[in-house]
Amino acid sequence: MMNVIEFFKNIPKKKCHQCGHEMNEKADCYGNICDECDHPAR
Ligand SMILES: [Zn+2]
Repeated sequence: MMNVIEFFKNIPKKKCHQCGHEMNEKADCYGNICDECDHPAR
């Protein structure tokens, strides 16, 4: 499926849906929220 590969290639840097800050790849497991917004103390 070429379309799937192209789809992932075209994905821009992940951005937090909460604050819009760009996230690192490692934040993948947290979904679409960055560490700052995902912090339990906030
Ligand atoms: Zn955030």
